Amino acid sequence: YQIKGRGKNGYLQFTPEMHSGHSLRITLESDLRLALESGGDQFELHYQPQVSHRDARTVGMEALIRWHHPRLGLMAPDTFIPLAEETGMIVALGEWVLERALSQFADWREKGFTGLQLAVNLSPKEFDRADLPERLLRRLEAHAVPPDALDVEITENLLMKDAEKNIDMVKQLRNSGLRISIDDFGTRYSSLNYLRRFPINSIKIDQSFVRDLNAGNSNSTSIIHAISCIARSFGLRILAEGVETEAQRQLLSGLACDDMQGYLFSQPLPAAEFEAFLTSSAFPSRTSVN
Ligand code: C2E
Ligand code: MG
Ligand code: MG
Ligand code: MG
Repeated sequence: YQIKGRGKNGYLQFTPEMHSGHSLRITLESDLRLALESGGDQFELHYQPQVSHRDARTVGMEALIRWHHPRLGLMAPDTFIPLAEETGMIVALGEWVLERALSQFADWREKGFTGLQLAVNLSPKEFDRADLPERLLRRLEAHAVPPDALDVEITENLLMKDAEKNIDMVKQLRNSGLRISIDDFGTRYSSLNYLRRFPINSIKIDQSFVRDLNAGNSNSTSIIHAISCIARSFGLRILAEGVETEAQRQLLSGLACDDMQGYLFSQPLPAAEFEAFLTSSAFPSRTSVN
């Protein structure tokens, strides 16, 4: 790793090349291990709302991890998730994310914020574990969260490699009541065949398509239109990621997107701020609690 500087959000950024012998990488690796072994206090989840395009209602949230490194400061997931994946630490990290997210989500449900979906990202390594459905169900049960409130985000390449085994896993998860989304849809070696073979619930149109979306760019409009027609015909929910402007929101509404996520609605927020967002946003399903 080489440090590039601070990004626009104040996060530390690295150049993408990784030199396995590089001392910063080694430092990060042992720091990450220590952070995990010491109970995860250095990690924090931020939550970003997912909003229905029809009535601007918040329908769910995606949990996104951050790492408060003791010396390097706030680190975005792109700087340590790949490292965690390479070293296998992603499994323990994923456990931490799931536990933290579910206990927070259960807390919000108790406060009356019901009818929401919690989305978590799953790495291929976590998906490879045969006991994944059991572990997920055990955690859900421990927090009294119904399985259909959990939305598991996986990426397309997971569906492409080792398809038979993964089809089976997706089916098991679906049979347990969980929901499955395809993250960053359209960016990998997409084969429309897997839409037919995998019983998924939703696709998340990648933000690179949304970024190019403006009245002047008919290519992105065409791609999103094509994606949403296909997804619609499979009965899938369509969510657009990275919606930043009102113009994009309007164009996406016209392209049959169900839900949206992006800075236009909110950045990913620390739990307390997200709760304030929920409290102040249109929220018809909040039940009264005494
Ligand atoms: P992702 O799952 O595709 O998450 C969406 C990313 O887009 C997030 O970056 C989010 O902050 C960012 N984003 C949201 N709205 C906008 C917008 O309007 N404009 C722009 N430019 N960006 C927007 P983040 O939080 O840095 O996460 C990056 C990636 O790291 C995630 O991409 C996901 O693949 C991975 N990741 C994050 N948390 C976890 C985790 O707990 N476990 C695993 N396995 N991966 C995670
Ligand atoms: Mg995601
Ligand atoms: Mg994405
Ligand atoms: Mg991603």
